Amino acid sequence: MNVDLVVAGSGFFGLTVAERCAAELGLRVLVLDRRGHIGGNAYSEPEPETGIEVHRYGAHLFHTSNERVWEYANRFTAFTGYRHRVYSTFKGRVYSMPINLGTICEFFGRAFTPDEARALVAEQAAEVSDPANLEEKAISLIGRPLYEAFIRGYTAKQWQTDPRDLPAEIITRLPVRYTFDNRYFSDTHEGLPVDGYTAWLERMAGHPNIEVRLNTDFFDLRDDVVGNVPVVYTGPLDRYFGYAEGELGWRTLDFDMRVEPTGDFQGTPVMNYADEDVPYTRIHEFRHFHPEREDYPPDKTVVVREYSRAAARGDEPYYPINTAADRARLLAYRDLAAREDGVLFGGRLGTYRYLDMHMAIASALSMFDNKLRPHFALGSRLISGGVDE
Ligand code: FAD
Ligand code: UDP
Repeated sequence: MNVDLVVAGSGFFGLTVAERCAAELGLRVLVLDRRGHIGGNAYSEPEPETGIEVHRYGAHLFHTSNERVWEYANRFTAFTGYRHRVYSTFKGRVYSMPINLGTICEFFGRAFTPDEARALVAEQAAEVSDPANLEEKAISLIGRPLYEAFIRGYTAKQWQTDPRDLPAEIITRLPVRYTFDNRYFSDTHEGLPVDGYTAWLERMAGHPNIEVRLNTDFFDLRDDVVGNVPVVYTGPLDRYFGYAEGELGWRTLDFDMRVEPTGDFQGTPVMNYADEDVPYTRIHEFRHFHPEREDYPPDKTVVVREYSRAAARGDEPYYPINTAADRARLLAYRDLAAREDGVLFGGRLGTYRYLDMHMAIASALSMFDNKLRPHFALGSRLISGGVDE
């Protein structure tokens, strides 16, 4: 095989590694993807009837406080001024998310100063002192009434697991604010790629030293590659080892996409549904991600209802469940990975970690600095372990 490096997977992790190795080290890189398109889960495409850009694997919002990642991303795309805001419907009324002073005033039906709101929530949160799971953590942050309205039902639908059996970290992704700031993310930089995600990803893959082969499963070429050419593998970790230590648990999503005969279905990009008897968790209306685009039709819109369930083998793995059993299996797989000479494991699937896009890019850049460059420039051994895990 006449290449210097094989990258299995063309998501943000794989493309960042490929681009750096091609552009910085002049290597010939072969990128394989078993799907028929590049970009992994960040891939987007125009819905054919309306031309509205739809993120095929769920809405993707780019945000980061990492200056190096922001600078790197801006080499391939400009970003719009989009700022993500989310609303939540509960018992027929609409509230702003994440929970902020506006949510608290609306929910309790009166005006609170920040200090009054803090005092109220502190009193309602006092029942939990040492939170050990998602439910206790949420109550310790926002008190039981807000937890039962906005978190319990939504989380039950999203995870189909008792919130007392889920790790506290899941909920600490969401800020709680005692101001009227209702931005979803708190990062320094935020925006959506002006020409869409696929244009950004194509520019990353466009270096003349990079060859992308779609509809190609790494495992069909594995015997020719491993041992002969260095590999960065970004597919599922358990699959690489033939599920020898058991399967790692994931949740998957089902997306129900419809074109509606109106120019505006819900007035906002994302509406969450907190009630447990509404079967979907949220509805995305994709035109609202790009209010600056003038070519979207005035009388049609694309909405996607999102449903969550446990993934079976063959389903797209989206969220690592991370039970105690999963963590034990992960450690066993990491031991196997550390013995696989010439193969590095990276990305969301390859490390079994929920990574936002900016985290996937940051992690790929550090794999380039700490493993790939030393290997190609100085001949260091290419082996997993350390910073990239
Ligand atoms: P992936 O994008 O999953 O790419 C892996 C690639 O490897 C895939 O293309 C796959 O086909 C390929 N592959 C797997 N096995 C093989 C094989 N055997 N041979 C060849 N190819 C293979 N991040 C944000 O920053 N903001 C968001 O708003 C956001 N929303 C998200 C919403 C959802 C529903 C999900 C699931 C994720 C979201 N993310 C978001 C996270 C984002 O998708 C990831 O950060 C990003 O996709 C990680 O890139 P990756 O390269 O690690 O993995
Ligand atoms: N969550 C919730 N209610 C909401 C939004 C989020 O209970 O209205 C909880 C839920 O458990 C979810 C977690 O917070 O899994 C993280 O939310 P986030 O929006 O970050 O999830 P993602 O967009 O990654 O699905």
